[in-house]
Parts: sequence; structure tokens; C-alpha cells
Amino acid sequence: MIKQTLRSMLDRTHVYDFMIPNVADELDLSHGTILYLEGITVSFDGFKAIDDLNLYIDAGELRCIIGPNGAGKTTMMDVITGKTRPDAGSAWFGQRMNLLRMSEAEIAVAGIGRKFQKPTVFENHTVFENLELAMSSNKNVFPTLFASLSSEQCDHIDEVLEIIGLNERVKKEAGVLSHGQKQWLEIGMLLVQKAELLLVDEPVAGMTHQEMDRTAELLKTLAGKQSVVVVEHDMDFVRSLESPVTVLHQGHVLAEGSMEDIQNDQRVIDVYLGGH
Ligand code: ADP
Ligand code: MG
Repeated sequence: MIKQTLRSMLDRTHVYDFMIPNVADELDLSHGTILYLEGITVSFDGFKAIDDLNLYIDAGELRCIIGPNGAGKTTMMDVITGKTRPDAGSAWFGQRMNLLRMSEAEIAVAGIGRKFQKPTVFENHTVFENLELAMSSNKNVFPTLFASLSSEQCDHIDEVLEIIGLNERVKKEAGVLSHGQKQWLEIGMLLVQKAELLLVDEPVAGMTHQEMDRTAELLKTLAGKQSVVVVEHDMDFVRSLESPVTVLHQGHVLAEGSMEDIQNDQRVIDVYLGGH
């Protein structure tokens, strides 16, 4: 044992843990997986909100997470974004970024964007200004409102406006947008920050049916380019995403599969779908 340790200490090609920088500069998707959560456990006063959770998200994948209240969905997102540190387990963004060693700010800059349930757009600024502010906030530069953007930045904003379907409202104040439009603008704000993995918590709460359909379309458009993890309770909406579904229960993955598999899984019916 000691011999082995000595040998590894003398081995110059050995990469020690402390030699690995906290933040790799580029997202490495060479294995096709953007997020690895393994053996994650989070306890609050001895109660395990997350219990040995394993979750893998492919690059470009759209994934739905469902589960009863208290299943640990929000806590899981808190772990991914660095807001909550787990007691055990590992969390990697691509092959090289160890999320458990990164601050919340570093994780956001690295490309994980989170959209909370309530839209947090700047109501007194126009749609364009909101996107512009979001773009500069991620670059750690003083917000350059009204300063000229590079043509590349302008192109990117145009592209995002197209994706979120707000190009006709670019000069409108965000405060006058409908609830659904505000949600799309906020997704757009994550896109201009070049978020590669978007975490979206209950996006359709309070939306009209038409807005829900449009939101499903939007999230499906992102898939393939960005990876999107959606937590949602509305089963019609989940169905319309046509994506793989993970069911969380008591901080653990209870089932994973297509919506059809999930709907026919007796364990899922017992703990969750029975009441929906
Ligand atoms: P979900 O989002 O699936 O409804 P949460 O992740 O919010 O579930 O919560 C999982 C469990 O952890 C719940 O039982 C909740 O009461 C508990 N919990 C969450 N955050 C805290 C906290 N900061 N302190 C104590 N208990 C918490
Ligand atoms: Mg929650």
C-alpha cells in the first residue's frame, strides 16, 4: 500500500486532485453528457431531501422532471447551481467542470442558467434592453446599457428574439408583456448569456393554453442546441414536450422513461399520478 503511494508520488504523469483547476475554461462535451449527478445526498437536520440521487443529462437533451411536492426537485436544482452543497456525491458539468468546487457565480458564467417560476425581467426596460443587460451581466463587465454592441452581439440578440418569438415587441417595455411573454423573455435572457444547460422550474404555471403550446414549442426548439431540464406539474404540458421523463420521489429517482412508460408504471401511479 505504502509502496504504491510512493510510486504514484514519484510518477510525474500522475495528476493529483489539487493540480486540477477549479474551473475548466471550456465545457467538454466529448462524451455526449452535459450533466452528471452521482450519489448526491442532501440532509436538512438529518432529513434526507435528496437521497443517493443519480441523474445524467445528454448534451442537447430536453428532460422533464416530475414528482410529488417535497420530492427534492428544487433542492436538486439548488445543488446543480451551487446554492446548496450536498453532503455526499459528485456533480460534473461536462467532463471537466466539478460543480461542487465552483461558486454560484462561476457556475452561471460556465453556462448553467436557471429560470425561476416567477419571471424576473426588468419591467421598466424594453425587451431589447433586457436582453442587452443580461448579455453584459454575464461577462462581468459594467452593464453597458445604451453603449453600442458589437455586430456579433447584435446578431446573437436577433437570433434569440427570433427563437423566443418577441421580435415584433423588441421596443416594448417588458412590463406590458403578457405573463407568457415575460417567461419567454427570461428564457431569452439565459440564451444571450450562452447558457448551455437551462434549468426551468414550472414554466407554465399561470399561462393560457395557447401560451403553454408556444412554450412547449420554444423548449423543443432549444433541444439539440442547448440542454434543458424542466420541472413541471402540468401533465398535459409534460406530454406535449415528448421528452424523456424522470420521476423523483423522496429524493431518489423512482422511474425514468417516456411519458407512456411512466404513465403505466404502477409505482409512479401510486405515489404521484394517481392524484393527477
Ligand atoms: P420539491 O421541489 O420536489 O417540492 P424540495 O426540494 O423543495 O421539493 O424539498 C424537498 C424536501 O426538503 C422537503 O421535505 C422540504 O421540506 C425539505 N427542504 C427543502 N429545503 C429545505 C431547507 N432549507 N431546510 C429544511 N428543509 C428543507
Ligand atoms: Mg419545488
